[in-house]
Amino acid sequence: RAKQQGRNTYQWYSQEFNEEASYRVALRNELQDAIDQEQLSVYYQPLIDAHTGQTRNVEALVRWQHPTRGLISPADFIPLAEETGQIIALGEWVLRKACRDMVHLHSRGFRHCSISVNVSPIQLRKEGFILTVTNALKAFGLPPESLELEVVESAVLLDTDVVINTLHAIRALGVHIAIDDFGTGFSSLSYIKLLPANKIKIDRSFIKDVIENRSDAAITQGVISMAHHLGLEVVAEGVETEAHATYLRKNHCDLLQGFAFARPMPFDDLLAFLNDQGAGNTLATRTSDRSE
Ligand code: C2E
Ligand code: MG
Ligand code: MG
Ligand code: MG
Repeated sequence: RAKQQGRNTYQWYSQEFNEEASYRVALRNELQDAIDQEQLSVYYQPLIDAHTGQTRNVEALVRWQHPTRGLISPADFIPLAEETGQIIALGEWVLRKACRDMVHLHSRGFRHCSISVNVSPIQLRKEGFILTVTNALKAFGLPPESLELEVVESAVLLDTDVVINTLHAIRALGVHIAIDDFGTGFSSLSYIKLLPANKIKIDRSFIKDVIENRSDAAITQGVISMAHHLGLEVVAEGVETEAHATYLRKNHCDLLQGFAFARPMPFDDLLAFLNDQGAGNTLATRTSDRSE
């Protein structure tokens, strides 16, 4: 009886595993079509200056509108693209699209606004990445100071010297660097000394319960203090409520990003959001991203 049950359980898992595997194989093939056939788009999420309430920066977040499967989350297809190497073409496409849109934004008068682009460790380790960045800046005439690259801590775990050198070269161009999802990687604090960063983004898993959870509060306050002593700015990710925002302002966080202010949105909605904000409306609640 027990053995029988064990076998059923095994079959059940195995069937689920096979379905999962074939879904991934299908997605992998379809991702190439997506890159070729313009099914990808870039959404933008504002980062709000904690003191002025104005948008200082926007993060580019890729979206895949699949013709039959609907909207697919980057959390699902970015890891696949990393496995297959498609992240190189995808990442370059996002970078160029973001630079182009940012130049457009600047021409509409929002020159104080900079753009953050997520960069995979695979891209950083690939020869020619620095050229990819300089080409994108030149192609659209975006000032290097208006571009920031978001890198996760674990990017330096493999090929550490190559990645650190690349990041130094990027900084030398005038481009900024932010450490993304800070605190969730398995890397050691000594990497922070090595990483030529301007900014630390505290992962939203620490922010979610920061008001009621003493550990999250201690970690958040500690990271803010450490970052400031290192001369870095701090962003809180996943700021979902006004109470979060108030808490973080009180604890000297520099920038706030989250649904309390704005969801990731298409470029046209971003323009409207920034125009509203200019008119004094800082707590807009546009909900154009139906994936969340
Ligand atoms: P990330 O870089 O940490 O981006 C922030 C994620 O948090 C985004 O998810 C955003 O929609 C979500 N978020 C923002 N505010 C809130 C909030 O208040 N509450 C909650 N629950 N979530 C919030 P998204 O767009 O699904 O992206 C997921 C991840 O996929 C990104 O995390 C990033 O690691 C990766 N990603 C997205 N676009 C790209 C890209 O162009 N290139 C690369 N390499 N990775 C990307
Ligand atoms: Mg990011
Ligand atoms: Mg993040
Ligand atoms: Mg994240």
